[in-house]
Amino acid sequence: MPTPADKLLREVPAAGGRLPSMAVGTNCPSCGVGLNARELRKQVYVCHCGHHFRLHAEAWLALLADAGTWQERWADVRGHDLLEWRLPKSYQQTIDQALQQGLNESVRTGTAKLAGHPLWLSVFDFRFVGGTLSIVAGERLARGLEQAAQSGLPYLLVTASGGARMQEGVLALMQMAKVNAAVGRLHQAGVPYFVVLTDPTFGGVSASLALLGDVNLAEPSAAIGFTGARVIKQATYADLPEGFQSAAFQLRSGQIDQVVPRTELRGRLARLLGLYSDAGRR
Ligand SMILES: [Zn+2]
Repeated sequence: MPTPADKLLREVPAAGGRLPSMAVGTNCPSCGVGLNARELRKQVYVCHCGHHFRLHAEAWLALLADAGTWQERWADVRGHDLLEWRLPKSYQQTIDQALQQGLNESVRTGTAKLAGHPLWLSVFDFRFVGGTLSIVAGERLARGLEQAAQSGLPYLLVTASGGARMQEGVLALMQMAKVNAAVGRLHQAGVPYFVVLTDPTFGGVSASLALLGDVNLAEPSAAIGFTGARVIKQATYADLPEGFQSAAFQLRSGQIDQVVPRTELRGRLARLLGLYSDAGRR
């Protein structure tokens, strides 16, 4: 028997806009089935077996933001190699190459609407140096969080990150404290903060703002943790539990609130935004 909530979820369109084409290989890495790129795009890059392919920033924006509503902020804040990092290759070269490929840092921030609800939205992009938290990423996140706290608009964050950017050393690590302080001000202002954890979310990002949401959602295929399982095993010689660092494991451990398939994510977020804005009015 469908509930009123089920009805409401069905009324929310599956995607704000048309997802861009993405290179996903010829076969699903989970079930091995041959992939039809057009079909897969229609299924928001979820295989029939349930495998969720990683989305890049533009795909997340197309999926979540209502068509034509995304307004990017601080795209002109750019990074450069402050520490003259050279190993394994020049950090400046790494940045320049990513910029030449049309990528603009590991975090994009702006305002948008989701099913008509205005909000601040930040999405990580794993293609840019593994989605690592950098000075630029931290600055864009902190500014967005502070503007959300002032304006009262909810904040939605989509993560995909290997952690803090080692090439920026302690300057990247201090971004963890900076963004956490900004999340604290958002909480103090009573503004809702939602996080969607996607594959992978690790290191300084899971250890800072990724798990501080009022509601933390995760995609089914997401690996979430601090240090990778192999490194932990090498350091502790311990046998790790079945499914260690999977979204299901983190749900059982109480780190996240819900595991939501991508096909239902937009509807779930629309519902949450509606509930929180109703609560605010009361
Ligand atoms: Zn599959």
